[in-house]
Order: sequence, then C-alpha cells, then structure tokens
Amino acid sequence: MGARVRAELWAGVLWSLAFAAVAAEPLPVSAVAEGVYVHWGAQEDSSPRNLGDIANLGFVVGERCVAVIDTGGTAEVGRRLRAAVRQVTPLPVCYVINTHVHPDHIFGNGAFEAESPTFVGHVKLPQAMAARGSTYLHALERDFGDAARGTKVIAPGTVVMDEAQLDLGGRVLKLRAWPTAHTDNDLTVYDVRTGTLFLSDLLFVERIPVVDGSLKGWLALHPRILALEPARVVPGHGMVKGSLGGALAAQEQYLSTLQLEVRAAIGKGWTLRQAVDRVGTPEGRNWLLWDSFHKRNVTAAYAELEWED
Ligand SMILES: [Zn+2]
Repeated sequence: MGARVRAELWAGVLWSLAFAAVAAEPLPVSAVAEGVYVHWGAQEDSSPRNLGDIANLGFVVGERCVAVIDTGGTAEVGRRLRAAVRQVTPLPVCYVINTHVHPDHIFGNGAFEAESPTFVGHVKLPQAMAARGSTYLHALERDFGDAARGTKVIAPGTVVMDEAQLDLGGRVLKLRAWPTAHTDNDLTVYDVRTGTLFLSDLLFVERIPVVDGSLKGWLALHPRILALEPARVVPGHGMVKGSLGGALAAQEQYLSTLQLEVRAAIGKGWTLRQAVDRVGTPEGRNWLLWDSFHKRNVTAAYAELEWED
C-alpha cells in the first residue's frame, strides 16, 4: 500500500471518528398521526444512564417548518431529538415549545439554538426558569458530570398568556396556557389538522403524577381537558392505551384521594409528618416511582390545604 493511499485511508478514518463525535444518534420516534411524531421517554427517574430521557417529546411538521414540543433532560437528548427531526424532514425548526419548567422537558433546548427557532412558553415560564433554572442546572451537573455538558437554560422569546396560534405553513398549532395545576406554567399544544393534543404533564399515565402547582387547580382542569375531545392525546409521561377519560380517571383517583385524605388529616390535627406516613398508602400499588414522589405530593398538598376555609 502506497503512502498516499494509507494517508487517504487514515483521513477517512479520522473523518468518520470526527463525524461520530458530532452526529448524535437519533431518538426513536413514532408517527402518531400524519406529520406528528412522538418520542416516548423512559418511565424512570432521571439518571446519567438514561441521560434524562424520561419525558415524552414531540414534533409537528408543517409545509414551511417544524415545531418541537419539549426537548428532553440534557443537551444530548436534545441533539438526539434534533437528529430524529432531520431523519424525517430537512425543513428548519422554527419553534421550540416548552410545556413547563421541569428539567426533563427543557434541558435539550440548547441543541436547537443553531437553527434560531423562536422559543415559546407559558407567560409564567420565564419567571419559573429564573427562579429554578440555575438550581436545576447545578443538580444536573453534580449528578450527571460529563453527561450534562452543553446543557443550559433558554427562556422563551414568545410567551402565551391565554391562547395563541403558531403557523407552520398550511398547519396551525393552538397553544393554551392553563391556570396553576401540575405547575404554574403548564402549556398544551393542539395540532388542528390531526386533532392531536400534547397535554404534557397535565396527564401522567402509569407514573405517579407530581403536584408542583396546585392540587385543587389540577383537579379543576380535568373536566375542561376531557371537554376538548381530542382525537388523540400525548401525555407528558406514559402512553394512553384506552380512552382519555380512562387515563384522566386514574389520575383523578390518585389526586382526589390525596385531597380527601390530606384534608381529613388536617381536620384530625395530624402533623405533616403523620400525614406523610399515612396518607394514600393503598394507592401506591397503582403507580410507578411511588417512593420517589408520593411523600413530596403529600407535603405539597398539606401546605396547600392547611389554611383553606
Ligand atoms: Zn413536569
């Protein structure tokens, strides 16, 4: 083999290695409807092993451009989501919509910056990111080390106060900012063409719902969500296998048990600690990640219900 051929071979090998270093492995996605793609996140706690790929993420392809709905728990998940978009279409990403402040939904934002999209969120999202973003980021850097590299907080450039529409070219997304429920900055996305509703964390399936906004507020939204009668829904975690009504009923069973039993505990003069140890225990068999989140939910519910009339 001549020196020149060897040099060319080496150049090829080096180029492949360099390409492998920058090209992310595309996330697996399913087409749930025409032009609507979903990546189903793992039903696990966020960890360096899953890279924070634990929330459902999506994108919708119009004739002009693409809207991404949530970006995953690290920059790397965002890069893989972007690679998945590229496998489907060469159209640019014009919108990155964050459904709320939780890190598993926003930490991949940086991967899309190169396309200069408009970042979109609830009117209260900037405030929530300002209040919690650096704490979330420090926790990620502490727990993930190198796997957190490149992850950053990007606040929305456009906010939704009530309702808004985004035009992707022949295709409209209707965005709705909800009153405080899962968090105080929950936003849903409805694709008019296919009737697909991205509910994000207003609906948990199989994984225990997390109350980080208002228990009463969340329960009050259930009938309003059901009344939207979408053709299909994408929850923030898990898959709806039967009807939306069935999935909401399961969530309602947990949240209303929490409300009823925490109210009773306060009525009986139980301390927070007593409530945390006793409330809702039989519900535990119905939910994944119960041990990680139930006690926190009781604490949040106790704080919310303690001073009501
Ligand atoms: Zn959430």
